[in-house]
Amino acid sequence: MSKGWERFFFVVAYITQGSSYMSPRAYAIMHRLHHAHTDTELDPHSPSFSKNIFSMMWRTRNIYANIFSRKEEVEPKYTKNVPEWDLFDRWANSATSRIIWIALYVAFFAIYASSPWLYLLLPIVMTMGAFHGAIINWFAHKYGYKNYILKNTSENLFSIDILMLGEAYHNNHHKFPSAINFGKRWHEVDPMYPVIRLFAWLGIIQIAKPAMAVPQESNM
Ligand SMILES: [Zn+2]
Ligand SMILES: [Zn+2]
Repeated sequence: MSKGWERFFFVVAYITQGSSYMSPRAYAIMHRLHHAHTDTELDPHSPSFSKNIFSMMWRTRNIYANIFSRKEEVEPKYTKNVPEWDLFDRWANSATSRIIWIALYVAFFAIYASSPWLYLLLPIVMTMGAFHGAIINWFAHKYGYKNYILKNTSENLFSIDILMLGEAYHNNHHKFPSAINFGKRWHEVDPMYPVIRLFAWLGIIQIAKPAMAVPQESNM
């Protein structure tokens, strides 16, 4: 996509993720490291190297923070062509920004919550980005079914995945990391696939040729 559209999606990501905003640059690098080192000690998040989901999330958080602040040296092949907007990222990732969002969420709950029980959802709302990530990175590397036998623990978590927007077909995704359609079998509907096609049709993005499902050699 063009730099202009890239910035548009930075802003959209900020509005939708709010207090749990994650830098697209840092996340992209971390995600490439996950694919390159799945289920090894160098994997930023692997259930095989963490006792429970919370220690995995904490480990991921620290690796993310080191990549974000550029304390951790990353090989250039992992930083090539990642989305970048440093000034914006620094604000959106700041403690001040997170506190402002949390204050807005609390105000929203104070106005609209019809029962005090609903406040139990507040921590999930505040950490939604990390929460969503952990569901895939923990559960889809532990439970589900496999379409492909790979040298890692990835599974397809659900046979139909609407809520995770196709992300839960994680075994398929590890087999074909660059495929824009995460679904492979007839019941595996990836709701984001038609959206990507629509964006391409509207000229917002261009679909790269290798994006059409090249299996990852090292995983075969
Ligand atoms: Zn994975
Ligand atoms: Zn991936």
